Amino acid sequence: MKTVASICPYCGCGCRLLFMVENNKILKMAPDKSDEPSEGMACIKGLTIHETVGNNDGRILKPLIRMDKDEQFKEASWDEAYHFIHERTRDLAPSEVFINASGKITNEDCYITQKFARIAYKTNNIDACCARLCHVTTVQGLENCFGSRAAFSKMNDVYSVDCLFIIGSNPASNYPVLHYRILKAKRRGMKVVSSQAVYNVTAKFSDVSLLIYPGTELILLNGIMNALIHQGAYDKSVETVEGFDRLKHVLELYSIDFVRQACGVELEQLNQLIEHIANSKSLGIIHGMGLTQHATGSENVHALLNLMILKNAQLLSLRGEINVQGVGDMGCLPDRLPTGPLATAPLLEDKWKTNVPIGKGKTIVEAFLISPPKAAFISGMNAAQSLPNLNVVHKNLRNMFVVVLDHYFNLTTKFADVVLPTPLLIEREGTITNGERRVRLVRKVADVCGNCKPEWQVFKEFSTLFGCAEYFNYKEPRDITREIVNVVPAYRQIDVASVYGGADAWAEKRMFFRRFMPEHFEGVEDIRSDKYPLILTSFRSQHHFLTGEMTNRSKTLMSFREGPFCYLSPLDAERLSISNGEVVEVSSSVGNITCEAQIDNSIPKGIVGMHFHFEKLLVNKLFPTQFDEKTFTPNYKMTAVGIRKVPL
Ligand code: SF4
Repeated sequence: MKTVASICPYCGCGCRLLFMVENNKILKMAPDKSDEPSEGMACIKGLTIHETVGNNDGRILKPLIRMDKDEQFKEASWDEAYHFIHERTRDLAPSEVFINASGKITNEDCYITQKFARIAYKTNNIDACCARLCHVTTVQGLENCFGSRAAFSKMNDVYSVDCLFIIGSNPASNYPVLHYRILKAKRRGMKVVSSQAVYNVTAKFSDVSLLIYPGTELILLNGIMNALIHQGAYDKSVETVEGFDRLKHVLELYSIDFVRQACGVELEQLNQLIEHIANSKSLGIIHGMGLTQHATGSENVHALLNLMILKNAQLLSLRGEINVQGVGDMGCLPDRLPTGPLATAPLLEDKWKTNVPIGKGKTIVEAFLISPPKAAFISGMNAAQSLPNLNVVHKNLRNMFVVVLDHYFNLTTKFADVVLPTPLLIEREGTITNGERRVRLVRKVADVCGNCKPEWQVFKEFSTLFGCAEYFNYKEPRDITREIVNVVPAYRQIDVASVYGGADAWAEKRMFFRRFMPEHFEGVEDIRSDKYPLILTSFRSQHHFLTGEMTNRSKTLMSFREGPFCYLSPLDAERLSISNGEVVEVSSSVGNITCEAQIDNSIPKGIVGMHFHFEKLLVNKLFPTQFDEKTFTPNYKMTAVGIRKVPL
């Protein structure tokens, strides 16, 4: 049995784990005691990877094609698949093709995916699923306030703060090894204050926790800052920072009384939370999708970054999926090139020695919900489960030519015309960039699939049919890493040989300037009605990951039996005469689903909570096409729903 150290394929902590392998089979997992980001720990998801990978049931093992979506798939050779795709897409205009890259593949695979989109199909219709759906608002906010597209702090910085403010995040399920650090720091005396929509693990261990109405985060943040300014409890040096006077002016409307009423919180708790933040000499801030996945996601993030500047705080901003930071850094976005904004096209053309398209492309939300293309390459994303307003997404997927590149059959492969088998992250080589912007080596642990090809190889081979093979002349991932270092400014200082030797490197973490971005709460009308009197919010489980293709295959993780359920408060259950385990229909203005009801004390009255990890519970059917208009990040945190018992 050999031991291979490689990277966990799940969350943005990017822990290095030890994989015990025999005859190409992963037998056991262990934490890597020498690993710095994880401090030698791992969570239950990482430690059960062998169960997932050992279960080859449902794994895509060969290229598959079909002439019509109603036909069965037929096995094909890679060459047949390439020719089939080429024949169906070669005459399409650049605007008619869309390609997505994902945060579950390496930087090298992401880089080649966008390079192929831009050279072969001459399109900027390239987007990163996990970035768009989760943290583009954060990255954009960081750029607006600091000129940087990554946060500056590291996970270890949690040990250097005296108070941690967690808003719209539950690190226990989202970033478990960061959660362990928070608990450790708390035992050493750090205070934790938090705000969230449901009474989750973070709320339980916080010194002060506010349960606020979903959608009022901006009001809370503005109210906190207003109080800090009134008390003089901020870093006075920031009075010269651009936007300070305007911020003060905007905040004047956010009195404690207004905040208390709008957010639905107790005055005493609100004052306590403000007092902890005011007294903090070294504040840390963590936020998550409870802040970003709103129609006001950009405004929310700006307000949080205003607080960060005001208190000179550390922002510990992690990412949901392992390589969300990297996929954006590689330029897999419709308005960003690997060299920077679209205006840097001449620089990229000089590096690539060819033309690149001009003009902003489509985001994933536009491609699958608003103005669908004729053909889409969907790499590492279960679009048919993870996008909002799924009835519309499914209809659009049926009408377009769909090429899926993925590891497991899922709901999206049911809409595919071509399915191409790609390796899991741990069956590849290359690098990822974790949520701290730490660039780490991914070692190939095993080759379970046999006939899978990583995206860089697929697009390299496919490029021959487009007559552009000269731009994809790579022998191995390391050749691509060298090009990344030459092309992507934030990666320029990385020593490729040292990374491939196993040492971590850092992509740039530099604050270029500080600027307040004051934001007013424009007011969200009460979306509830007699028909839809409750607010649905979605959240993550600590035992499952994204749309569940991997974690749903682990016996241990499935034994926690967390779904598919809809969770509601005891008060609402009583009012609706719903008992634990009864089947209910949940409906919104755009769809309905049935599921088992679970009565849960952690859910406040008026709220319905659901995980989004299960194909049997398509919670996203209920969320309409509503998104943050600046970034197209969907609102997955609040929509009005009604619940009724399904008669037996
Ligand atoms: Fe994997 Fe994240 Fe758990 Fe670390 S904390 S083992 S990266 S899921």
